[in-house]
Amino acid sequence: MIEEKLLRDTYLEVNLDSLEYNIKEIKKLIGSDVEISAVVKSNAYGFGAVGIASTLVGCGVKYLAVANLLEAVELKNQNSNYPVFIMGHTPDSMMQTVVNKNITATVFSFNQAKILSDLSKTKNKITPLHIKYDTGFNRLGFKHSKESMREIEKIFELENIEVEGIFSHLALTSYNDDLEQFEKLLKLKTFLNKKGLSPKYYHICDSISGMDYENFRLDMIRPGAAIYGLKSFKNKKIKLKSIGTFKSKISSIKKISPGEGVSYDYTWKASKDTTIATVPFGYGDGYPRNMFKKGHVTISGIKCPIIGVLCMDQCIVDVSSIENPKVGQDVIIWSNGENNTISVQELSELAKTNKNEIVSRTTRRVPRVYIKDNKVYNILNYLLN
Ligand SMILES: *Cc1c(COP(=O)(O)O)cnc(C)c1O
Repeated sequence: MIEEKLLRDTYLEVNLDSLEYNIKEIKKLIGSDVEISAVVKSNAYGFGAVGIASTLVGCGVKYLAVANLLEAVELKNQNSNYPVFIMGHTPDSMMQTVVNKNITATVFSFNQAKILSDLSKTKNKITPLHIKYDTGFNRLGFKHSKESMREIEKIFELENIEVEGIFSHLALTSYNDDLEQFEKLLKLKTFLNKKGLSPKYYHICDSISGMDYENFRLDMIRPGAAIYGLKSFKNKKIKLKSIGTFKSKISSIKKISPGEGVSYDYTWKASKDTTIATVPFGYGDGYPRNMFKKGHVTISGIKCPIIGVLCMDQCIVDVSSIENPKVGQDVIIWSNGENNTISVQELSELAKTNKNEIVSRTTRRVPRVYIKDNKVYNILNYLLN
């Protein structure tokens, strides 16, 4: 029984076939010479990293890319053979775990690389690493300069490590600014080439640049949003599917009279006889609280406006336009925008944030239900495991 594994009516459904479809479409677009490092940081943008990792690896992605060591270890604990790449900073004191668990880390100082080299030596291992090069974002990385280039050159001389990749990240301000960043990375590449040093992968593209800037793809791209079907890019040659649907069921129905208020502060008051339904989701599930009075959920293909202040655990909607609403009736909180559902795009605009924030803040009390071949394939319930 699926109910015993959910223990609540609200859950995030994740379609693994759509995920696979997206990876295949991206591969078709970028060709076989460009690898994919699938970004699964922040619990795979909320969709559940360990719930989708095997599908991604099965699609032949080169890496599962995460932000930090903790996320990397979560994946390695599920399957020690997963290829896992940390794009962010790993503290020196934690580098031992990187070596022990065969994780590919990012470094942006000679000292970090030396620590990895020394640790690998004692373990008799060769640890692959990627070097972050800051071409203008001013977040992480060696700042673009001749001295940095010489420091990077020194890293290649260290024993028991392999400089497998060198990468940067774009600010996506404008094509011209991005081009300037891209050219700085190429300058480093030329510098190293002249010294006979050629790491396997140079990479700079995330989803938007990877889809839109064909000439920036180099050896690898790092799409996150795109693999989940969250489209901010312009390229019309690629169609991706949204992989998630946030679902719930009606828990209570009431009829209220004109003048009656709903929820905290009675910010919404009925102007006529109204049928309202309570749905068991709220900002405690990661849904934006500021959606009351602007958002809607979808019941039987009909838009039902959110009324009253959104609570931590519950949301009250106007179901007056639903014929004969029932407790237990299906509610779609957000989906792909079809059949009157609100899409993540639309939701993010109304909530004044971006799509990634909407999905990645889905909290741990929301079970993730994975669908494959139209059947429930797996359930991740963080409160039970
Ligand atoms: C998050 C992240 C990505 C993926 O970004 P999307 O816009 O979701 O594709 C790629 N690279 C780095 C370094 C990141 O931090």
